[in-house]
Amino acid sequence: MTNQSMVVSDAKTGLTMGISTVTRPDPALFSSAKPLVSPNGYFSRKKLVKKLESCGNGARLLDSMRASSPTRTRLNDTDPDPNSWTAHHPSALSMFEEIMGESKGKEIVVFLDYDGTLSPIVEDPDRAFMTTEMREAVRDVAKFFPTAIVSGRCRAKVYNFVRLSELYYAGSHGMDIKGPAKGPRKGNKTVLCQPAREFLPMIDEVFKSLIEKMKHIPGAKVENNKFCLSVHYRCVEEKRWGELAEKVKSVMRDYQELRMSQGRKVLEIRPTIKWDKGNAIEFLLESLGYADSDDVLPVYIGDDRTDEDAFQVLRNRGQGIGILVSKTPKETNASYTLQEPSEASYALPQTFGGVEENNLSSLLLIIV
Ligand SMILES: [Mg+2]
Repeated sequence: MTNQSMVVSDAKTGLTMGISTVTRPDPALFSSAKPLVSPNGYFSRKKLVKKLESCGNGARLLDSMRASSPTRTRLNDTDPDPNSWTAHHPSALSMFEEIMGESKGKEIVVFLDYDGTLSPIVEDPDRAFMTTEMREAVRDVAKFFPTAIVSGRCRAKVYNFVRLSELYYAGSHGMDIKGPAKGPRKGNKTVLCQPAREFLPMIDEVFKSLIEKMKHIPGAKVENNKFCLSVHYRCVEEKRWGELAEKVKSVMRDYQELRMSQGRKVLEIRPTIKWDKGNAIEFLLESLGYADSDDVLPVYIGDDRTDEDAFQVLRNRGQGIGILVSKTPKETNASYTLQEPSEASYALPQTFGGVEENNLSSLLLIIV
């Protein structure tokens, strides 16, 4: 498994990038027609989200909050064989040869979600630290490939976790994008995109209301992610989830310009504008000069429903590698899977010992 690569400076973008030897990809691997996992026996996330976003009755919201609990992912005993999910979405760790084939002749751009991808999901969202090893790994990746963190967190907060100035950061689900000081520029300015700026006063107002409402629910935590808000209920007793949902909905009722969606034990509130992580990666690819390029291979790794928008963009483009981090089968637009952020920790020492720079297989081992 040798991916012959070199590092070149791209005059158009001003970036230094890894470029691999030329080969066309196997279209079957990334075909948008590739069947997704049958939802038979599993929750349809799209339906779930539609219900949430329509702010239906409290019972529905409560049901979906319960359903999002990992232990309740499966609906009943008729679940399909988990192996069939694995067959459709094999482990990225076991598919290096195929992935390597896709990387040949392509300029790789790396997109990484943060929570649940670079850091474990923890009870206190303020303590979702990434390990020193992971930080070093991301730093190594960013030496050779444009690398972006795409997170639901506000940009400043995710930067404080990652602390690598050479990366692009797309915070607030992609609604707050900033490039590195030395990255490509538009005019004399660093890449910057804030499509929801006008919503800031409203979001601050809702934040204050939610803080007030959640004061009486032990364990509830409201996080201000600048262009969006998160209501975490991971530490709330399940018997109070209904009350929490009702309180959030009562606040939302006065703000039709905001919508709600659900993540892993978190309710997300954000502007209704059509801008998500998928838009963010399209914006970044365009900023890097790859808007219509056939020679780019975006790699996106994420664990949550909001990452599906990015996986969908890769499918629509017919290029790139989507990798879902998940221990349990779920409907996804990703092509590959990883069980958890630390899955490859066993492989890290060997990989660092013999890493071939710009080798995509090493890249994947490093960043997961
Ligand atoms: Mg995540």
